[in-house]
Amino acid sequence: MNNRENGGLRMMAARFVGAVRLRNEPRCGRAAPDELALSLTPMMARYKALVRWKVAKYLSMGRVRAVSCPVCGSATEVANADTRFSVVRCTSCGHATASRTPHDEELQALYDGLVYWHKDKGHGGIESFTEGNWDAWLAPRLDSIYRLAGFVDTPPKQVLEVGCSEGRLLYELRLRGHDVFGYECNAQIAALGSHAFSIPIAGEGFAASKVAGRWFDLVLAYHTLEHVGDVVAMVRDMASVMKPEAKMVIELPIETVYDNPDHVHFFTHQSIRLLLGRVFLTVDLFPHGFIDAHGTQIDSAFAIASGPRN
Ligand SMILES: [Zn+2]
Repeated sequence: MNNRENGGLRMMAARFVGAVRLRNEPRCGRAAPDELALSLTPMMARYKALVRWKVAKYLSMGRVRAVSCPVCGSATEVANADTRFSVVRCTSCGHATASRTPHDEELQALYDGLVYWHKDKGHGGIESFTEGNWDAWLAPRLDSIYRLAGFVDTPPKQVLEVGCSEGRLLYELRLRGHDVFGYECNAQIAALGSHAFSIPIAGEGFAASKVAGRWFDLVLAYHTLEHVGDVVAMVRDMASVMKPEAKMVIELPIETVYDNPDHVHFFTHQSIRLLLGRVFLTVDLFPHGFIDAHGTQIDSAFAIASGPRN
């Protein structure tokens, strides 16, 4: 990263993070061009992705490919052909998914910049990294870790979170003494969060090869796997860096209407059990739900998995 990019990022962090004080912050007189460059880059990526989706739709001439269920391998039927990825649903486990596997570049384009962060966190009444209803956002996550997964603070643990966004949960766990590490495919949010909370966040997609030689006691992924292309490969990869006694804690939305344009997967309780059961010996499911800032009931499920199969 060159100095100009770095300066722009730091200034954006100062504005975005709100109450967090960024010490030794240099004054930057060229704010507008730097911020413009930051906001244009993801805009161009989104535009390119949009063109690619349109071309893919046109070339398929409205046909939806008959893919098999990525979770259980059964046949699928068309559930909603009008969405970005044309959603099909498994006739056995009910898992719904994109009728083609999106490219990493396409997926990344969905979350670049700060727009997605504001849309996602805004549902919960969160305005910046430090302002808004963070306690309500943290409470169910901490409950899933401590009560549902039986996590304890002593001795300190190695914690990995995949899709950690700004890293607010990892920051909370680090305050409790743990060694934390996060992956976030939105490089801009990763850099801002890493700077604001002084925690290591890699601004790229997770792969086990990237943490070779490091083993974790706790592996987390909240509202992340529904955005991943090959979800079975991702869970296997995450499981491969767990210590023998480690636990994985995930949360996934349970959706029966397939109109969320950003989701590649729409899970059922059964498909979550099947997915994790392919990789782990023990899987426990806990239905959860909350009402978002618009008053809409959002159903989800926490899953605790342990005992990775070899
Ligand atoms: Zn299935």
